[in-house]
Amino acid sequence: MHYDVIIIGGGPGGTTAAKELAAGGKKVALVEDRHWGGTCLNCGCIPTKMLLGATAPLGLLKAQERLRTMKGSIEIDYKALQNRIGRFLKGSSQSLAKSLTAAGITLYEGRGVCTGKGQVAVRTDSGEESLTADTLVLACGSSSASFPGLAPDGDAVLDSTDILNLPEVPESLIIVGAGAIGLELGDFFGAMGTKVTIVEAAPHIAPTEDADIAKEMERAQTKAGRTCIAGVMAKSLVTRDGQAELTLGDGRVLTASKALVAVGRTPNTAGLDCEKAGCTLKRRGFVEVNASLEAAEGVYAIGDVNGLTLLAHAADHQGSYVARRILGEEQGVYVPGPVPSCIYGGMEIMRVGQTAKALLAEGRNVSVSQVPLTLNPIAQAAGSSGGFVKVVWDGDAIAGIAAIGHGVSHLVTVAQLLMIGGYGPEKLHEVMIGHPTLDEIVPAAIRAPRVAVTA
Ligand SMILES: Cc1cc2nc3c(=O)[nH]c(=O)nc-3n(C[C@H](O)[C@H](O)[C@H](O)COP(=O)(O)OP(=O)(O)OC[C@H]3O[C@@H](n4cnc5c(N)ncnc54)[C@H](O)[C@@H]3O)c2cc1C
Repeated sequence: MHYDVIIIGGGPGGTTAAKELAAGGKKVALVEDRHWGGTCLNCGCIPTKMLLGATAPLGLLKAQERLRTMKGSIEIDYKALQNRIGRFLKGSSQSLAKSLTAAGITLYEGRGVCTGKGQVAVRTDSGEESLTADTLVLACGSSSASFPGLAPDGDAVLDSTDILNLPEVPESLIIVGAGAIGLELGDFFGAMGTKVTIVEAAPHIAPTEDADIAKEMERAQTKAGRTCIAGVMAKSLVTRDGQAELTLGDGRVLTASKALVAVGRTPNTAGLDCEKAGCTLKRRGFVEVNASLEAAEGVYAIGDVNGLTLLAHAADHQGSYVARRILGEEQGVYVPGPVPSCIYGGMEIMRVGQTAKALLAEGRNVSVSQVPLTLNPIAQAAGSSGGFVKVVWDGDAIAGIAAIGHGVSHLVTVAQLLMIGGYGPEKLHEVMIGHPTLDEIVPAAIRAPRVAVTA
């Protein structure tokens, strides 16, 4: 069967590209070997946020209890929560598949393998079907990464997918890797009563963020009863006598009921044979792309598989760009704009654009203006006013906006829009921001005095 476009991978990148291409009149095949909706829907963004959605009210209630405005107890039914999430994910995946079919896209359930230029074999247990197309889009995503000595074994040493399906809440949990996945799952299990220890090789937890944001996060983790160990390598992690046993580079040995390996992602390119379609794999197996996300003539690679930005909204944005390019509506190179990212939980981090440390490393003229969350009435009303919002300036231009505090993930879009619109102090009067809102804290941080940063 011949198509205009074959897309391999039914996650956010692949499904967005497929829908826009079909809407533009293209004959599209979409190949998926595990679950419609990809990592994001089935074992990533959505199940983690559903878990955190259940524990979020506990944090708010505890804050009121600390203020002596409330007392009593409440308990989360973990099994009921797991059942609810399972039903929701299954239903969402099924309805996504239905909506794709209704959009005129031909769905193939099987493993897509590149067999030549414009050629794909779809392999299933029962056989193989050969397809051809004018254009291929690789949207195969990524899976949990591991390092030698730190491989999940599905017993006491788990990856992020295993831990989402744990039948019971573990008594104690070691998390190796304090990025978004490690911190979010640590937050959930910590709120469920698990004794959590977070280990990070970089000098601080939340390693991609500035040190002041990370320090505030570490303070919140410690206050919540979690242990953070940063600046130490994890040397080996194994199941011994049914327990997870972690040996650190400094010789310390930690044990816990379970351990989570959250040390990054690896692209799903093993066995894809995309070299046969003309692609080149770069370090760690990600597909090399040019500035227009082309991996070879007539082949695009989008989302996690190209390793540019491993976030669902980046996959979606790239999928839309590639669809417009194939439809002839887009000639320019791919421009992501300032990328929003969040770490969710009781204490949240949001950032749009650059960190101060990244700009300083480029030798830029960096200054920071910031305000504490205590100034905000909505943060005060929630009883959770720790943290701050910080604007990072490159000369007189806003290069990044970051925040740490309760509920600050909700600031990410207002921060992004003010940044894209170039709303510096002299232009902010053009925007009327609602009051009282958490959003108000972002313009306040833009208007705050700037302090030069040198290191
Ligand atoms: C625990 C966790 C939490 C996360 N939370 C967030 C978050 O809050 N916000 C955020 O933006 N991102 C989050 N992410 C990251 C996000 O899930 C990914 O960036 C996003 O799913 C990438 O989309 P994609 O379309 O590139 O690939 P994926 O969603 O990985 O989809 C790729 C699909 O391709 C299929 N596939 C692979 N190879 C083949 C093949 N050869 N043939 C057929 N099908 C194939 C896979 O089965 C998969 O379904 C999280 C990830 C994890 C693991």
